[in-house]
Amino acid sequence: MFTGNLLLAKDGVFPVTRDGEGHPLSSLPASGFPFPGTIQGEGKLAGVPSLFVRLAGCNLHCAWEGSGCDTAYAAQPEETRSLPVEEIARVVIRNLDRTRHVVITGGEPLLQAQGVAMLCRLLKERQSLVHVTIESNATLYDEEVTAVTDLASLSPKLSSSAPASDTGHHVTRLRPEVIQRYIARARHHGTDFQLKFVLAREEDEREIQELLAALHGWENEDVLIMPLGTTPDMVRRNALRAAGVAIKNGWRYCDRLHLALFGNKEGT
Ligand code: SF4
Repeated sequence: MFTGNLLLAKDGVFPVTRDGEGHPLSSLPASGFPFPGTIQGEGKLAGVPSLFVRLAGCNLHCAWEGSGCDTAYAAQPEETRSLPVEEIARVVIRNLDRTRHVVITGGEPLLQAQGVAMLCRLLKERQSLVHVTIESNATLYDEEVTAVTDLASLSPKLSSSAPASDTGHHVTRLRPEVIQRYIARARHHGTDFQLKFVLAREEDEREIQELLAALHGWENEDVLIMPLGTTPDMVRRNALRAAGVAIKNGWRYCDRLHLALFGNKEGT
């Protein structure tokens, strides 16, 4: 049952410098800047100034060889914060400044679909120019959420993401019919979507090709290949292989700019 609250990861709404009433916070955000906002590090909007809302909890348990989930503190959280949607909207609006991009991420935001839809509606009512990206693992779909989404950032998980122990991950990680619903809706309503894949090993290329062959309505420019990595060094080591696969197939290469700028730091 929806309580009117959203369960946030510990970095919650970031980076911000004001509370919901517009009063300055006592400490600088993790970005180190004396103003709100960071950049979107991944995808079609890489480099665009953005505010993030990070939700707690995930229905998957990704664990690649040599790397776990890059936001494990949000996916399987030990620390969370429950805040009224109204309060979250106030904080976001007070910190938008010249940024109009809001990214709702996780964990898996669609686990809290009702609250996410309400948050997006409030933001768009109060600031009509707000652009909302929802970052999802594309196993869940909600019509109310997609109706208020400008960019559906979908990260389908390949078999290389399966953990050693049986968590049910392998059964739920890939839902082509759900991905197809996102694509169809975006195409029908003139909104945008992207299919962002973590490339962890050579076999991933074939899996991506097979998945894409089962889908329709996408273009090469909607497909982004991202190197596996939770640190700048690891991204650098895996970048060439990801770039090669992208070039060979006519897809896009996708960096992780936030790691290069801020390192693996929560709240940036
Ligand atoms: S789907 Fe994303 S947030 Fe969830 S466990 Fe996998 S990488 Fe982490």
